[in-house]
Amino acid sequence: MVIAKRMEPLVAGSSIIRKLFEEGKEMAKKVGTENVYDYSLGNPSVPAPDAVKSSIIKILDTEDPLFVHGYMSNSGYEEVRQAVADNLNERFQWQYKMEDIIMTVGAASGINDILNLFLDSGDEVVVFAPFFGEYRNYVITAGGVLKAVPADTETFQINIDGLDAVITEKTKLIIVNNPNNPTGVIYSGDTLDQLQKELERAEARIGHPLYVISDEPYRELVYDDNELPFMPAHVKNCLIVYSFSKSLSLPGERIGYIAVSPKMDYYEEVKAGLITTNRIGSVNAPSLMQLVIKECLNERPQIEVYDQNRKMLYEHLTALGFECLKPQGAFYLFVKSPIEDYAAFVEEGKKQHILMVDASSFGCPGYVRLAYCVSPEMIKRSFPAFERLAEACKA
Ligand code: PLP
Repeated sequence: MVIAKRMEPLVAGSSIIRKLFEEGKEMAKKVGTENVYDYSLGNPSVPAPDAVKSSIIKILDTEDPLFVHGYMSNSGYEEVRQAVADNLNERFQWQYKMEDIIMTVGAASGINDILNLFLDSGDEVVVFAPFFGEYRNYVITAGGVLKAVPADTETFQINIDGLDAVITEKTKLIIVNNPNNPTGVIYSGDTLDQLQKELERAEARIGHPLYVISDEPYRELVYDDNELPFMPAHVKNCLIVYSFSKSLSLPGERIGYIAVSPKMDYYEEVKAGLITTNRIGSVNAPSLMQLVIKECLNERPQIEVYDQNRKMLYEHLTALGFECLKPQGAFYLFVKSPIEDYAAFVEEGKKQHILMVDASSFGCPGYVRLAYCVSPEMIKRSFPAFERLAEACKA
């Protein structure tokens, strides 16, 4: 092996996802694409709003190409960062300045910028199960160690009681993903207040500040009368990581930002540091897309499409006896395996041509994740397959 030892498990792990993808392709060849029910990927199923296309055309038609496609400050165009700050301040009554916003290559690069800034080799990052599996890879690549707080399987809120035992003197960062992938749960303001209290206790014990990454790519995907709390109003050392991948259906365009709360400890140092790590990782966020999102900050996803999918799938699966969390946000349904051998449940699903992600990869074995950002027709077509799956699990 020529590659770094720390990368070996990552490389081996990615072949598991590839295997699922290949299996789906093989299945489609045998039974036809329309008979494979692929709930594996969180790729938005509604197109980007029309405003995205018209902004692209307008910008290309009216702006100087040297400006549109050139380098800019590593943190992004100043007018874009100012527009993002103004938009957040207006929506959440906050006090961001232009300098607090760093444009990034989606949420993934924002998280990596923060990890690279804070972690020395062997430093620890705490996550709450179930968590977005890629965090593991990001943390290892930055030289850190991921520590997971076990899930609270009663409420699937943050397991505050389990936090203290996991925080050590090596802990630097906590990642919170709200609304959550894979559960669809929204962490309440109360939960975040409790988190802040627990962090203060831990900081006194370990003698240095702890920082929270609030990973919010699903911020705009919230159902019914649920409300997403604004994390910096609850947690002092908060770095919001945002992405337009899901809210504007632009995952391939790679655009997002970090918002540094001016209330945090060592605020100036953190802000200056992120400019550097952003430059190292990606030089700058895509220039055209920065200009586009400036025009589209008030655009929203077609939440009613996801909501219809959410209700259809949740109602059908619960009627069949599956235990599911009713999603409050994002576009994932978290389903408990009805049999103890959850790997066998995933395999049984495949026999019915249903592709589900085993939640072991989210640090929460015994469950599966269904991404319902798919066509409503596919959901309807999959119902008989779920009926067969339910029967097979009773046998
Ligand atoms: N964080 C979570 C919780 C996600 O679900 C995803 C993508 O699915 C990301 C981060 C990465 O998003 P981006 O496309 O903005 O890099």
